[in-house]
Amino acid sequence: MSQEDWKKKLTPEQFNVCRLGGTESPFSGKFNKHYEEGTYLCAACGQELFPSNTKFDSGSGWPSFSDVLNSKNVTLKDDFAYNMHRVEALCSNCGSHLGHVFEDGPAPTGKRWCINSVSLDFKPKTL
Ligand SMILES: [Zn+2]
Repeated sequence: MSQEDWKKKLTPEQFNVCRLGGTESPFSGKFNKHYEEGTYLCAACGQELFPSNTKFDSGSGWPSFSDVLNSKNVTLKDDFAYNMHRVEALCSNCGSHLGHVFEDGPAPTGKRWCINSVSLDFKPKTL
């Protein structure tokens, strides 16, 4: 998919975050305080990314997860923007920007996946 194709498929906010690496305003995202059981998917392509039981409230204003569903589903990339070294998380299937990974998360992983709500979709658990 070209950037033009993505522009047609995604909302302007999704395009800015997923394809241009932008960041939504903290506490603005629809999944920040969302704690239903299910699976979080890539908003752009639908690949499964995070199980709801790894989600926690980090107080950062963005949805935070301590682990991924499958490490193959996420690509990590060094990001040196703003003179900081951060680790960027991208969907391994479509390359969409998801957020960043920090090393100050809860045990046992110690990871904090700080993810934009607009990069995510949610599939409720089916009984
Ligand atoms: Zn994707």
